[in-house]
Amino acid sequence: MTSTVTTPAAARRGAVARGASRARGKQDLLARLGRGAVLCAEGYVFELERRGYLQAGAFVPEVILEHPEVVEQLHMDFVHAGSDVTQALTYYVHREKLRVIGREKDLVPMNRAALKIAKTVARKTGTLLAGDICNTNIYDPSDRKALQEVERIFAEQVGWAAEAGVDYIVAETFSWGGEALLALEAITKYSKVPAVVTFAVHREEKVREGWTPADACKRLEAAGAAVVGLNCHRGPQTMMPLLKRIRKAVKCHVAALPVPYRTTPKQPSFMSLTDPCCGNARAFPVGLDPFVCTRAEIHEFGREAYALGIHYLGICCGAGPHHIRALAESLGRHPAASKYSADMSRHAFFGTNKRIRRIQTVYRAKL
Ligand SMILES: [Zn+2]
Repeated sequence: MTSTVTTPAAARRGAVARGASRARGKQDLLARLGRGAVLCAEGYVFELERRGYLQAGAFVPEVILEHPEVVEQLHMDFVHAGSDVTQALTYYVHREKLRVIGREKDLVPMNRAALKIAKTVARKTGTLLAGDICNTNIYDPSDRKALQEVERIFAEQVGWAAEAGVDYIVAETFSWGGEALLALEAITKYSKVPAVVTFAVHREEKVREGWTPADACKRLEAAGAAVVGLNCHRGPQTMMPLLKRIRKAVKCHVAALPVPYRTTPKQPSFMSLTDPCCGNARAFPVGLDPFVCTRAEIHEFGREAYALGIHYLGICCGAGPHHIRALAESLGRHPAASKYSADMSRHAFFGTNKRIRRIQTVYRAKL
């Protein structure tokens, strides 16, 4: 940077470097959480499945290599809708999931590509760049070999995220407390960035060791997590009571990223929902459409969570950009997508706009 060369290319490089350091200063997760909410869109896997680029079942985002432009566009859509974060789509891009679909050889390219796509969008949009690690599905506290494999999975994925220069790392969707603690340990050991660690709670209000979610979060806080909380599996209605207990139990920042589905006290997780219109068949994963939360419900969730002092907010599997926009608007924000938020005053029949002809408005009651 001591060079006095003033070629356009050097000037551009200088500007890029200054922009990058300004962005880094602006992009401190904890400072942002201290000032207010941080919105993190998730749920990429479900949205890509709906768009026809990912297979339900294995839920491995092979789309990263097959259609990277689709992943990049989805990141852009979520930022447009109000996400403060571009989270790399490395969920389920670990060696265990790739083993299940027979693509172990793509482990490194798939992780690197996902991080590169997210980094491009984060730099373009000035959003935080998050790495992501998740449930391995092989964690077994009584199996030493399995535990070693879990540690290996976390170590390598944290390593790739750190190499990519992420601002922080999300470790998510754990139903074992011990697995979440191992994930946190790897983030602490192999990176220098904050950890956001979240549990996914099934029907029982406990993690698989039998700890309450509040107790599990306390253990994570004690072990050094910057943000603790819940993601996935539960909708706003059945996640909220647990969040209240977690908020009271810990001093650190709390994360809340429910699925946008109408879960109930009897069927508190989206995997337990059954559809009475289809012979009470299990709705998960591709029959969940009748249970999708409205924007108003997501708005209410955001408002209530933030009022409780929960500052790390997002929506998990099932979220579309319209949900993220509703969440942003619940915090009084006006993301770019809000330009197109509904305005029924212009509607052909329900509109109140002076230009709407009476021939239409008088017909309202018959609609
Ligand atoms: Zn999810």
